[in-house]
Amino acid sequence: MTVPMIAMRAVGKSFGAHQVLRGVDLDVAPSEVVCLIGPSGSGKSTLLRCVNFLEPYDEGEVRIAGELIGYDLDSEGERRPMAPSRLRAMRREIGMVFQHFNLWPHMTALENVSEPLRRVRGLPKGEATDRAAAMLRRVGLADKAGAHPLRLSGGQQQRVAIARALAMQPRLMLFDEPTSALDPELVGEVLEVMRALAAEGMTMLIVTHEMGFAAHVASRIAFIDGGRILESGPPRRVFHESAEPRVRQFLQTYH
Ligand code: ADP
Ligand code: MG
Repeated sequence: MTVPMIAMRAVGKSFGAHQVLRGVDLDVAPSEVVCLIGPSGSGKSTLLRCVNFLEPYDEGEVRIAGELIGYDLDSEGERRPMAPSRLRAMRREIGMVFQHFNLWPHMTALENVSEPLRRVRGLPKGEATDRAAAMLRRVGLADKAGAHPLRLSGGQQQRVAIARALAMQPRLMLFDEPTSALDPELVGEVLEVMRALAAEGMTMLIVTHEMGFAAHVASRIAFIDGGRILESGPPRRVFHESAEPRVRQFLQTYH
């Protein structure tokens, strides 16, 4: 049996008295694409942020390729915060793309991709530039390397953000509504880049409202409501054969 790339077990997370994740179990196998869907406020972003420990979970376990993230277990099984250097090392393996792309406005597209390679990976300038150029080619933006973000469309900016994450050579990618801030005519070009990544075997956990994309690209759909995964299965089953009233009700809003 292969070790899951992401394994969440009985994960719980509260903000004060408000429990946002409840007993979440979710596995993502290597090269699998899992789309996480559910209503606003159901805990999708929080779940994603627990995967790379941007949000510390309070209960359960999150393992990346078998390794517990965020905590060390002592000989009694008690958990303590993981050393910051190890947490940083684990996070470097996990690419994340957000709804808002957060590019540096004063840098070119190429510099937005190459700078983190220099700062985080310590690559020499020439090597960072070469790798950044290759990543921009991969997302179809070779001709925009010298452009500043404000000269790019939202779809192009999001593709730069994807290139920036890919340049770090992550083992898995997390996407949090990567197309939700885009004008409708720009959504397709970003989804196409993600589809190509999936076809290349990248492991991905994607929060999205793009049901057509999810139906075609996902290996599995997980539906979350009120901080619980209510259903998880192949797209056809979740989209067309769900017996779960909340799932059917949610999907109706997309027809
Ligand atoms: P989704 O991404 O599905 O819309 P979120 O994970 O962003 O949902 O949020 C789930 C719930 O947790 C919401 O009720 C939200 O208000 C709450 N929440 C999220 N982040 C925080 C935070 N940092 N502090 C307090 N409450 C939060
Ligand atoms: Mg969200």
